[in-house]
Amino acid sequence: MSLHDDVEVILLDSQTVANRVAELGAQLSADYAGRDPVLVSVLKGALVFLADLMRAMDLPTSIDLMEVSSYGAGTETSGQVRILKDLSKPIEGRDVIVVEDIIDTGLTLNYLLGYLADRQPASIKICCLLDKPARRLAEISIDYRGFTIPDRFVIGYGLDYNERYRNLPYIGVLKPSVYGGAPPDG
Ligand code: 5GP
Repeated sequence: MSLHDDVEVILLDSQTVANRVAELGAQLSADYAGRDPVLVSVLKGALVFLADLMRAMDLPTSIDLMEVSSYGAGTETSGQVRILKDLSKPIEGRDVIVVEDIIDTGLTLNYLLGYLADRQPASIKICCLLDKPARRLAEISIDYRGFTIPDRFVIGYGLDYNERYRNLPYIGVLKPSVYGGAPPDG
């Protein structure tokens, strides 16, 4: 039994992801030339993307990590977010790039953007690897986007189901038989 057996289909293989991450890194390096942006990521899903993206950037960047959890009953994203781990340094006057794994309803990021904006950074841009626009509830303008994907529950390259599959090197669709019934809510 291997992790790969639970994958219905590989949506984006590791070379495709690596190529796109390299492109995003080059684009960010050009756009932020002469500046030293701080990459702010949300644990844990964006970790793998952050690790690769920062190495594709030829800039004096720093990173900061936040951890959040959604409030509310059930598994639906509520848009009410609790900060479990805050920024470790002030971002006032800094150029912030929010590095996200996937934007689904957009509610989590919408809250986070307000939270970050209150801390008076010089600028905030969003860089997300995966955009799943089908279920969007909050309008979010994505500045840097890796891929637009269909409304499927994906795993791998940092993304989990019940904390598993984060270490798959590609992005795949989880077999529905693994979670049984309705797809899990992000
Ligand atoms: P949103 O507030 O945009 O609905 O939630 C975004 C978060 O839900 C992502 O950061 C991610 O943790 C989770 N999520 C959304 N879609 C998926 C998916 O297809 N697979 C996985 N593993 N997580 C998802």
